[in-house]
Amino acid sequence: MTSRSTAILGGGALGLTLAWRLARAGERVVVYEREPVAGGLAAGFRVGDQQDGPWLEKFYHHLYRTDRDAIAMVGELGLAEKLYWGHPNTSSLIDGKPWRLDGALPVLKFSPLPVVDRLRLGAVAALMKALPNADPLEGVTASSWLRRWLGPRAYSLAFEPLFRGKFGSYADEIAMPWFWARIHCRTAALGYLRGGFQQVYEALVAGIQMHGGEVRLGVTVDSARPSESGNWLVTTAAGEERFARVVSTLPTRVTFRVVPDLPADFRTRYDWGLAYGAHCLILALDRQLMKDVYWLSIADEGYPFLAAVEHTNYIPADEYGGKHLLYLGNYLPMDHPLMRATPQEALDQFTPYLQRLNPAFSRDWITDLWGFAAPFAQPIVTRDYRAHIPPHETPLPGLYLANMFQVYPQDRGQNYSIKLANELAKRLALGG
Ligand SMILES: Cc1cc2nc3c(=O)[nH]c(=O)nc-3n(C[C@H](O)[C@H](O)[C@H](O)COP(=O)(O)OP(=O)(O)OC[C@H]3O[C@@H](n4cnc5c(N)ncnc54)[C@H](O)[C@@H]3O)c2cc1C
Repeated sequence: MTSRSTAILGGGALGLTLAWRLARAGERVVVYEREPVAGGLAAGFRVGDQQDGPWLEKFYHHLYRTDRDAIAMVGELGLAEKLYWGHPNTSSLIDGKPWRLDGALPVLKFSPLPVVDRLRLGAVAALMKALPNADPLEGVTASSWLRRWLGPRAYSLAFEPLFRGKFGSYADEIAMPWFWARIHCRTAALGYLRGGFQQVYEALVAGIQMHGGEVRLGVTVDSARPSESGNWLVTTAAGEERFARVVSTLPTRVTFRVVPDLPADFRTRYDWGLAYGAHCLILALDRQLMKDVYWLSIADEGYPFLAAVEHTNYIPADEYGGKHLLYLGNYLPMDHPLMRATPQEALDQFTPYLQRLNPAFSRDWITDLWGFAAPFAQPIVTRDYRAHIPPHETPLPGLYLANMFQVYPQDRGQNYSIKLANELAKRLALGG
């Protein structure tokens, strides 16, 4: 395969969307995906025993109303009637009690803070919503800006746990524009694709194949190198294949490993390795754990997980054969022991804390248990991040980078990977 043929490294939201668009434009595409299932970080697994049962994401997923590219994609694939919008309870655990902080009224009622701090919290949230872009906030860390405008007490109660949970020891170094986007772009209404987001990825794979493309699952790319004749050679365990061009959707650090010919000055500027892995323990329970709360961010210290997400307090347990599904999630350094722990080991560590969330909890309630870990799941968006975002074009002709580490200032999400893919597909299909 050579002229106009494209190898796409990575079969997540970005790679599959790009492949589908290029295949529909008449190009020859091959997607290489390391995992046996398509969908990358948004991939799911079957919860029940049936082959046609619902999928559940390995890591909790929902959409916001502002996720226009993802919503449009769901529509294009004929799945719109499955996209459900709700207003589930999202809360923070503070001093052992869940508090809603997801609107003006709940913030005004947030009694752990004095009234003046609650008003400042409301004013900062209103300012972030009103500010049309984050340019005036560039070069500033969120912790210094928020400490100044909210006061240290409101910052430490309302937001510091979010930064600690997501970014650990980098919590004080995160770019303020990232925080702006989090408040500006997010909505209280949350969208979920009933039956699982995996349906999007399965439909994309089918669409790529229908247009003559290939999706090779369970195939790791070892290297991609330019050949003397101006083509690209992609090497896997099965051998070497030739393409006109390569698009890598792998995390930037991984791309730089796979493409050893990228020049040193390009590497020095763009090789961003600061990222955490994600870990989720998922429990199927025979009853509800948290009364009505879908999303509980843990602000209290000492918990071994940063969020408890009871999926079935949002999407009814009936849709999963009566199983109550609970995620216990973490972002962690990629070499953290929990990233390699078995589900049982993680459960042993988490059990006393589940009893804090519901004193009646007993391990007899658990009917199923799954554990998932993924590297490079959360880019660490420090103050200087923007200057290190690589362009799509690289110094090597025919090699393009497109990955979730280029998403900024928004937090990465399916929407932004789909958006990047849509934009790049237009450029590649037009530019050749
Ligand atoms: C805990 C968690 C919660 C999240 N919550 C949400 C949410 O609520 N809503 C939302 O929209 N998004 C959410 N996201 C983010 C969302 O999952 C990602 O932004 C999106 O899936 C990224 O897609 P991608 O294709 O850009 O990258 P990825 O999904 O990372 O795709 C890259 C692919 O490359 C593959 N790969 C890596 N190395 C190789 C190799 N050498 N050869 C071949 N293949 C390789 C990987 O297996 C992977 O499939 C969440 C993510 C996490 C981790």
